[in-house]
Amino acid sequence: MKILIVDDDPVIRGIISKLVSDMGHEPVTASDGGTALEQIKEYSYPVVLLDWMMTGMDGIEVCRAIRTMENDNVCYIIMNSAREGSSSISEALKAGANDYTTKMTDSIELRARIGVGIRTAQLGMELVELNRKLKYLVRTDGLTGLLNHAAILRELDMELDRGRRDATSTSVLMLDLDKFKAVNDTYGHQAGDQVLISFSRKLVGKCRSFDRIGRYGGEEFLIVLPRTLNKDAVLIAERIRLEIADMNLDNIIQGLKITCSIGTCSAVLSVQHTSALVSAADASLYRAKEAGRNCVMSCTRKRQ
Ligand code: GH3
Ligand code: MG
Ligand code: MG
Repeated sequence: MKILIVDDDPVIRGIISKLVSDMGHEPVTASDGGTALEQIKEYSYPVVLLDWMMTGMDGIEVCRAIRTMENDNVCYIIMNSAREGSSSISEALKAGANDYTTKMTDSIELRARIGVGIRTAQLGMELVELNRKLKYLVRTDGLTGLLNHAAILRELDMELDRGRRDATSTSVLMLDLDKFKAVNDTYGHQAGDQVLISFSRKLVGKCRSFDRIGRYGGEEFLIVLPRTLNKDAVLIAERIRLEIADMNLDNIIQGLKITCSIGTCSAVLSVQHTSALVSAADASLYRAKEAGRNCVMSCTRKRQ
C-alpha cells in the first residue's frame, strides 16, 4: 500500500519512510501541505501521516481539505505533531484526523498505529468496493446486463426532467420479441435466454451512447431516447427492427431468426409524465402486434 508522509522536516520524513518500508509498504513523501494535497488529488492514498506545523498550508487545513473532497476515497489520517495535550488532539480529530501521535511517540507505538490505519483503510476500501457492486446489482438486469425495470424508469424520469429544463423532446421505444414463447417451447429456455442476451447486445450496439436501454420485463425492453423527436425515434426504431430481423443466431440454433415489434411515443418538450409516456408506448406496441408484428407503430401526444 502507498502511504503518504507529509512533513517539512527531512529527518522525520526519512525515519517514517524507513518504518513504512520495514512494514512492507511503499512510502511516498511531501514536504508541504499544498504539495501533499495535489498528490492526494492525483492518487488516493489510503493512509496519510500528516505533520501539523508547516509553512504555507498547515496539517489542519490539509485535513479539512481532504474531508471536503467529493469522492468516496478512503483516507485514514494520522496527525503527527510536535504539539502535545488534549486540546491539540481534540482540534486535529475535529478537523478530520483519525488518530494523533506526537513527535515523541516511539517507533514501536507509531508502527502499531500505522498498522491500525492500514487495517482500517483496507476495511474501508472493501466496503467502498462492495457498495459499488451493490449499486451496480441493484440497477442491473442479471441476465442481459441492461438496466432493470426500476432503473430504466428512473432514467426516464430524469431524462424527462432534463428535457423540460432544456425544452427538448424525449422519446421512448417499447420493444417486444415476437412469438418468443415458441422459441422457448421449441428450443428450450436456455436457448431462449441466449436469444435475449444476443438481442440485448444488438440493442446496445445500435443505440447512441447517451440513450438508455432497459429490460422492462420478460421479453420486453424499453429504450429512452433523450433529445429525440418522434420522427427520429421512428427512424431509430425502424433501423433496430431491421437489424433484429437480420440478426444471425446460428451460434445458438442453426438458422434461428427472430423479429420484434416496437411501439414508440414522444413527449414534446418532455411535458408528459413517465407512466403516461410508457403506457402510450405500450399502446403503440399493442397496435404493432395487432398489425401483424415485426413492425413499428408510433404516437405523439402533446399533453396528458
Ligand atoms: P407476442 O408476439 O404476442 O409477444 O408472443 P410471445 O410468445 O412473445 O408472448 P407471450 O407473452 O405469450 O410469451 C412471452 C414469452 O417470453 C413467455 C416467457 O416464457 C418468455 N420469457 C420471458 N422472460 C424470459 C426469460 O428470462 N428467459 C426465457 N428463456 N424466456 C422468457
Ligand atoms: Mg413477445
Ligand atoms: Mg411480452
